[in-house]
Amino acid sequence: MTAFTCPTPDCTSTRKAGQYLCWDCWDALPATARRALSIRDDLATARLQVLHRQLAAGTSPAEIEIRL
Ligand SMILES: [Zn+2]
Repeated sequence: MTAFTCPTPDCTSTRKAGQYLCWDCWDALPATARRALSIRDDLATARLQVLHRQLAAGTSPAEIEIRL
């Protein structure tokens, strides 16, 4: 099983292929963000980019907002 680095800057855990974040960071997301990111439609890639942008800007997983 290939493991990837979790995209959260302060996180040293790994995520699996098909996961956006490691389990700890995923669990830390607000339920609304988790629900939005779980939808697999034409906007899924855009939602992932919003997630990565917020994480890169220093937003903690608990404060991520996905409004797509
Ligand atoms: Zn993580």
